[in-house]
Amino acid sequence: MAHGVTVIAIDGPVAAGKTAVGRKLAQSLGFAYLDTGIMYRAITWLALKNDVPVEDEAALGDLARTSPIELVGTNSDHVSVAGHTLGPELRESPVDRNVSVVSKATSVRTEMVAQQRKIADQSNIVMIGRDIGTVVLPDADLKIYLTASPENRAKRRWQEMQDRGQVVELMTVLSETLKRDEIDTGRENSPLKPGEDAWELNTDGLNIQQVVQQIITRAENL
Ligand code: C5P
Repeated sequence: MAHGVTVIAIDGPVAAGKTAVGRKLAQSLGFAYLDTGIMYRAITWLALKNDVPVEDEAALGDLARTSPIELVGTNSDHVSVAGHTLGPELRESPVDRNVSVVSKATSVRTEMVAQQRKIADQSNIVMIGRDIGTVVLPDADLKIYLTASPENRAKRRWQEMQDRGQVVELMTVLSETLKRDEIDTGRENSPLKPGEDAWELNTDGLNIQQVVQQIITRAENL
């Protein structure tokens, strides 16, 4: 990559296209790819499984500290935690509904951020999430804040759920999407927001390849 770009941070709200874009971008550049959302989802799944109340910050912190997350494969869609290998179950409704509450806990964030930085130390990487450019990797070479209209994001999310065989109303998806964004932007610790040095890229009307190409062009012209 021109000008020595080795670390790319992508943040943004629910279903702005971060996953598809991040994965394809990493593939094109030959970089590792980490979707940090899956780590918060894994801790949420484990909390629900162990009946840990999702508002109990101390208990969530204990759980996160004693249950290191191992990535399975290179796609950032499977992890292993506390002896469980998890994939599609991390995208189901119980996790969706609770993940933003669990992610508010500072005890959980501190542990996740430490694990994410360790992973970033190992290779060139595209890392996606909510606080990557602002908190996890503030020295990233390129920071992108992906957005899209709430309607397009909800439609995208609804389509993903359809493809997985989950039957749900579009309006329900829209309201859950907005609710999750509200918690993510309103929390005290590492709220979702574009960093001052982030490039805001609206993906409305663009396909994945077009977004990836714009990012590569931007990186080449840094
Ligand atoms: O990106 P994804 O929808 O999988 O993220 C699930 C949730 O995890 C987000 O809504 C947010 O609450 C939390 N999250 C976070 N910080 C990150 C990544 C995800 O708080 N870096």
